[in-house]
Order: sequence, then structure tokens, then C-alpha cells
Amino acid sequence: MNLAFIKWFLFVCCSYHVVVAQTPVSQSPVIKKALTFLEKIEPETISEQILICEIPAPPFKEESRMVYIKKRFTELGLQNVRVDEVGNIIGEYTGRSTEPLLVLSAHLDTVFPESTEIKVTRDGHILRAPGISDDSRGLAVILAVARALKQFNIQTEGSILFVGTVGEEGVGNLRGVRHLFKDLVSSKITHFISIDDVGLKTFNTAVGSDRFRVTFSGIGGHSYANFGISNPIHALGRTIAKFSDFIVPKKPKTTFNVGRIGGGTSVNSIAHSSWMEVDLRSEDRIELGKLNAAFHKAVLASLREENRRWNSKDTLTVEITSLGKRPAGKLADDAEILNAVVRADQALNIKTDFRSGSTDSNIPISLGIPAVTLSGGGGGTYKHSLRETFDTRNSHLGTQRALLTLLEIVGIKPVAR
Ligand SMILES: [Zn+2]
Repeated sequence: MNLAFIKWFLFVCCSYHVVVAQTPVSQSPVIKKALTFLEKIEPETISEQILICEIPAPPFKEESRMVYIKKRFTELGLQNVRVDEVGNIIGEYTGRSTEPLLVLSAHLDTVFPESTEIKVTRDGHILRAPGISDDSRGLAVILAVARALKQFNIQTEGSILFVGTVGEEGVGNLRGVRHLFKDLVSSKITHFISIDDVGLKTFNTAVGSDRFRVTFSGIGGHSYANFGISNPIHALGRTIAKFSDFIVPKKPKTTFNVGRIGGGTSVNSIAHSSWMEVDLRSEDRIELGKLNAAFHKAVLASLREENRRWNSKDTLTVEITSLGKRPAGKLADDAEILNAVVRADQALNIKTDFRSGSTDSNIPISLGIPAVTLSGGGGGTYKHSLRETFDTRNSHLGTQRALLTLLEIVGIKPVAR
């Protein structure tokens, strides 16, 4: 091998490397076409969002919606489409390599009970229906991304798992995504992107939460005849009074709330039980731990005070049960997955807007797996209420951003100018 050949060989290799490494994914002709395609098909993506929204998916009853997504994953050419043990729907888009292996997910469940009437109405650019944004939009976005990949036969370096997760909302306690990362395949997942919420936000901080139900119990009795025994509702009141005065930091944002209370049988009875449901949250696991400890202390102090107040032999008892726990965590500011979002945002002229939130990404973030939740474009109001809306203006940016971000991570083959 002569010197000239070695020089030529090195030049070719280096040039190829520079082209591959430095050409932004968004400049690839095929990706430009895919972005234009996503904008063009946005009315169809919105129609699919409406269709998904009208398939009920109450907590723990996501199956009908899952069946629809399964059908669509199959039609869109995803491989090995399957339902796992907890009801997540999974389809594969195979790249040249199994690494990186990125999950693109949206959640199947809503917060609305089975009896909720769901019919989407349209008022100009505003759609109205419970769940129209959260997370019918996310599901429609991941289907649109799969459609663009198929339409242009985009060859990726790494592989993608498209997933519809169960149990993201409150009572579901992230059971779908927890299972995904417990499963065998989880050890191979290198990146995770969830599409949730509306707008163009990027959730890079996982807000942790602890939720509890507190139940005070006693013998109960007549309000006049048995006056002088400890009162479970009074004990509850003492707890809420202490709880209301907690001081928590603004940064890292830490919050508490008594969301529901109950107990008692009539105005002239000393209740035999009282209960409340409590939500504690923080962006920071240490602050969440402190709040949790203060909450438990307040409950036990209230029990002691109420029992001491009456000094009767029939003392109250208290039970604290967990209603769910979500781990807190934050990505490093220079995490590769965040750089990918920033590059996608720049290509689409979007100002990157980092936020904290409680989403499926909490689990991978807490496990040290790079994860981010992107909102699905458009706008909207009154999430989790019967008045929920979705604003369709410029919503195509949500699908374009999801496609670009994931391709920035898995890479395309080859990126030619
Ligand atoms: Zn959601």
C-alpha cells in the first residue's frame, strides 16, 4: 500500500465521517419530505385523535383503546406487535442495529370513569371532549410518526419500540411503564420519549409524588349521650390544620394537597371513622422525603392529641395506606436526549421550553435511563376535566418535533446532503 493510497483512504473515511456526523437530520432530503408530509396529513392525524378519544379508556379498562392502537400498529407495518402482561401495546420499527433502542410512547388511559359520555364537538379550531388532549393527542402523534417512517421507508440506524402504555394516570400509578422497564426487553431500552400534554413543552424533570389515604377509627356513638369520647373527624381536622401550615420550598417546587375527605353517618353521631386522601409532590426526592416525614408526624401527633383531649378508654387508631408513589428525578442539563430535543426545536424554529411534570418518564429517569416527555403540539385547556379542549392551530409541529427528536437519537442511514 503506497502513501498516496493511505492518504486518499484516510481522506475518504474522514470526509464520510464528517458528512454523517455533521449533517443535521432535518437537512436530509427524505426527512424534509417526511416533515412536509406530517404537516399535510395533520387533518387526518386530528381525525384519528378524535376517533381515539371516543373509545373509552377508564383507569384499568384500557383494552378497547388498546385494540384500536394494536390494529393501527399492524396496519402501519410495525413488527412483532404484541400486548404484554399488564396490557401495554408494543410494536417494533427495526433499524440496522438494535442499539440505540428508543421507546416512543403515549398513554392509553384517561382519568374519566366508564360512565362518562365522550363525544367530541368542534368549534372552529377548538375540539372539546374529556380526554381529547390527554392523551388522545399523544397516541395520534405516535401513529403519525409511524406513518411517516413507513411512507418514506426511512431507514434508521437504531430501533424504535412504539408503545401505548396503561395506567399512567393517578390510580394507575404508572403500572404500564413500570412493567415495561421490568420486562426483559427493558435492559436493552436506551432512550425513552413519551408524548403527553399539549403545546411544545419538554418535561426534563420528573416530579415525584407520594399519595396516601389516612383513616381514623373509633367506637363512635351518640353526639349527646356519648359525648366525651375521641372523635375521628376531630382528629382528621387536627391533621388538616397542621398540614395546612406546612412550609415547603418554592424551588425545588414542592406541594401538598388534601384532595378528598369523608366519614361520619349523621349530624348527631360521633363518627366511627373518618378519612382523607393526600397528595405530596416535589421535583426533588430529598424534599419529598422531608414532606413525607412531616406528614406522618402530623397524623400521629393529631391522633395523640385527640386521644389525650378526652382521655377516654376507647382510643382512636389510625391507618395510613399508600395510594401510589412516583419517583422524582432530573436529567443532567447536557444529557444527549435533551440536546436532541434542542436540535429538533431549532430546526422547527421552536423555543425550547423545559418544564417539570409527572409522567411515564418518571420511571426511566429514576432508573438513570435518558427519558423526556414532549407535549404533542397544538394547545388546550381544562385537562382532566369534562371541559377539556384541544386547540388545533399549528398542531403539526408536535408530530414533526416527535419525528425529528427520535431520529436525532436513533440516527438515519446514511444522512446525505
Ligand atoms: Zn397524560
